Order: sequence, then C-alpha cells, then structure tokens
Amino acid sequence: MPTIFSHAVVATAAGQWWRRMPASFWWWTVICAMLPDIDVISFSFGIRYEDMFGHRGFTHSIFFAVVIGLIAAYQVSSNPESRGPSPGRLFLWFAAVTMSHGVLDAFTNGGRGIAFFSPFTNDRYFFPWRPIQVSPIGAGFFSPRGLRVLASEAVWIWVPSAIIALSARAFRKRT
Ligand SMILES: [Zn+2]
Repeated sequence: MPTIFSHAVVATAAGQWWRRMPASFWWWTVICAMLPDIDVISFSFGIRYEDMFGHRGFTHSIFFAVVIGLIAAYQVSSNPESRGPSPGRLFLWFAAVTMSHGVLDAFTNGGRGIAFFSPFTNDRYFFPWRPIQVSPIGAGFFSPRGLRVLASEAVWIWVPSAIIALSARAFRKRT
C-alpha cells in the first residue's frame, strides 16, 4: 500500500467536487479509502499474503468495493441532513473510492499484486508502470526507507491530490 493516509488524501481531494455534503459523507469517504487494508490483520491469524483473505486479496477487489459502496450510500442517503445527491450517485462515488485503494496499490513497486477479481479468481495484478514506493507493513516512517516512501508519495499522490482539490474548488466557485 501507499501509507494508509495517502489513500484518504486522494479520496478527500477528489471529494472536493461535491457540494455541501454532511459530515457522514466525509467519514464514509475516508473509511472507504482506508478500509481495504483491514486485511493486514490476516497476518496475525497466520493467513498467507497470497491467500484470498490475505493482504491485497478480497478486500481490494471490485466485488468488495461494490458491497461497501452500497452500504456507504445507504448510510449516507438515509441521513436526514443529506438532501441532494441520489443514492445511485453516492453508490458510484463510494464504490469508486473503495476501488481507488486497490488501484493505487497496483501502482506500488513491492508486495504482491491486487486480487481485483476476488472472490472469482485469486489472480493478483499490478499495473505495468509502478512508480510508488511500497510502504513497509508495520515499520517506522523515520527510517531511510520510510522517508523514501513518503517522498515518493509526495510526488505521486499528495501533489496530484492538491491539484485536484484546488482545481475542483476553483471550478466550483465559478459555477
Ligand atoms: Zn492496500
């Protein structure tokens, strides 16, 4: 993974395109972006990385993104504060945010690939171009390796996210 916070940074930056959303929308956006890495607990159950429920397995799949997208859209649209976007649009948003996690992981240069089509097949995929330094699992960030990870995320994730967020805000101001 890129570090877990970088997943949330991308999602909240892209979320700037939405107008006046309730707090629950932002909570779910952050949860959806980070949730796939809940699978790191599988290591403590002795599940191997390459297994279906191993790291970057089922919780990084399209199937999981659809399920979480439905749950999040239901939760946010049943909130009385959120009059506005239809449940269908919210579903597309939250499924895309959850999916963005595995997609970003597939741009990292280490670990195993992503099981996009789990539970139907456990084949693991990467993109051919992988510029993002993989984040060490459970290791400190103040090691030379940790700093290299943060530097690569700054270039490939934080700067593009800031550009997305600023352009969304500029655009929204004019409309
Ligand atoms: Zn991940």
